[in-house]
Amino acid sequence: MARMAQPVRVAVIGSGPAGIYAAEALVKQTDGDVRVDVFDRLPTPYGLVRYGVAPDHKSIKSIARYLQKVLETPGVRFFGCVELGRDLTRADLLDCYDAVIYSTGAMVDRHMRIPGEDLPGSIAATDFVNWYCGHPDAADHEFDLSVEEVAVIGVGNVAVDVVRILAKTADELRETDVPEQVIEALSGSRVKRVHMIGRRGPAQAKFTTKEARELGELPNAGIHVSPEDMDLDPASAELAESDRHVRGNVKVLNTWTAEPPADRLRLRRIDVRFWRAPAEIVGTDRVEGLRLEKTRLDDNGRVTGTGEFETLPVGMVLRSVGYQSVPLDGVPFDERTHTVPNEGGRILGPDGSPVPREYVAGWIKRGPTGVVGTNKSDAAETVRNLLEDVSGSPTGRKLTIEELLESRGLRVVTYDDWLNLDAAEIALARRLDRGERVKLARWEAMTSACRRRE
Ligand code: NAP
Repeated sequence: MARMAQPVRVAVIGSGPAGIYAAEALVKQTDGDVRVDVFDRLPTPYGLVRYGVAPDHKSIKSIARYLQKVLETPGVRFFGCVELGRDLTRADLLDCYDAVIYSTGAMVDRHMRIPGEDLPGSIAATDFVNWYCGHPDAADHEFDLSVEEVAVIGVGNVAVDVVRILAKTADELRETDVPEQVIEALSGSRVKRVHMIGRRGPAQAKFTTKEARELGELPNAGIHVSPEDMDLDPASAELAESDRHVRGNVKVLNTWTAEPPADRLRLRRIDVRFWRAPAEIVGTDRVEGLRLEKTRLDDNGRVTGTGEFETLPVGMVLRSVGYQSVPLDGVPFDERTHTVPNEGGRILGPDGSPVPREYVAGWIKRGPTGVVGTNKSDAAETVRNLLEDVSGSPTGRKLTIEELLESRGLRVVTYDDWLNLDAAEIALARRLDRGERVKLARWEAMTSACRRRE
């Protein structure tokens, strides 16, 4: 690799795992001969590790400590409260840096396009997850937890998280970092039954076995799946033999076919229902039910309706059918896959050739798949290609980011500011006698904690 006279300057947009792993790869692959500025629209780093990983998944949350070390590496800086499109444009970034990596993730929910999807009480899982994870955009959301039955659509890991949080008691979550207002709302919950809906069968469930097993281990909720739903067509039965993930899932699901013991049902019941596709969310002013069509797989393995319907009397529907990325101003975007067209992280223009100096990493590059760690190799690939392109070639840097931010009068949250907020959350947990951290979720509380040393 040819060396440049000055270190390469790279802007990383988005401080979730993909962005921070990209910063780490830049440092490692240049032996530290690099300057990386990591931007986030929020005052907090770590993206989905902070706002997506469930609060009761402490070991996955601890990845934040690893990501923190990257942000503390010489040559790496954090710029919070700076939003691409609002505070900075793509052209600004190209003026200030040799290269830009977009790692903005997948921030919005997919739609099912069925009648009633917009009724009050029909909620995107992203909104619910953001709320219990203390995302400032969702801090004042209110969910009507006075309803007794809820449907969660989808059988992926996000659906499992949402079902688990609904099924746990507020006391079970007190030791986690969920904001105080979430604990309060959950303590008033009257939810008694949660239905988790899969449009295909047990062999096609996307959740991982470890996550599924946890649902069956909740002390205050009984779980059930009807034996008929466990009927596997020959192709699925074959998968349940040959595929480790499917085999594990089917094994766990088969342990739930007996009626749960009465003591577990005292508070809540979870019903996992396969072979049911949402046809309509029913209600006049708000959700009153979920109409489902029974399904089967056709000869090509595609899901098809049987013409048989049933309606569940639920008062809330949580749609957990996957996330998708949003386009970034001026950056190519594939509306079909909801990702940025790229080859190994090199952004491709409309003619299919690489766009100079612009790259992607993470979910905006490959779609919302994989676990947090998947982003490490994904980001390393992008960085290898970036350094191959940028090293040795003169670039168009025109001004420094400091000059630009100052000329706009922007109030940036620095890494040290974030540490103040971090300390305030730890201190709050101590005051409330609640676990290691209690999140501050309101914009004002967060930004004022950033400016104050505990
Ligand atoms: P996902 O794994 O893609 O699951 C989406 C679910 O929604 C699938 O069951 C899918 O069914 C269903 N679905 C999609 N469109 C539908 C429709 N129109 N009607 C009914 N059902 C529909 O997505 P996710 O749960 O959002 O998870 C995203 C990623 O984050 C995954 O890689 C996941 O593993 C990861 N994650 C991991 C953890 C963890 O490790 N603990 C926690 C949370 C998330 P079909 O299969 O039939 O399309």
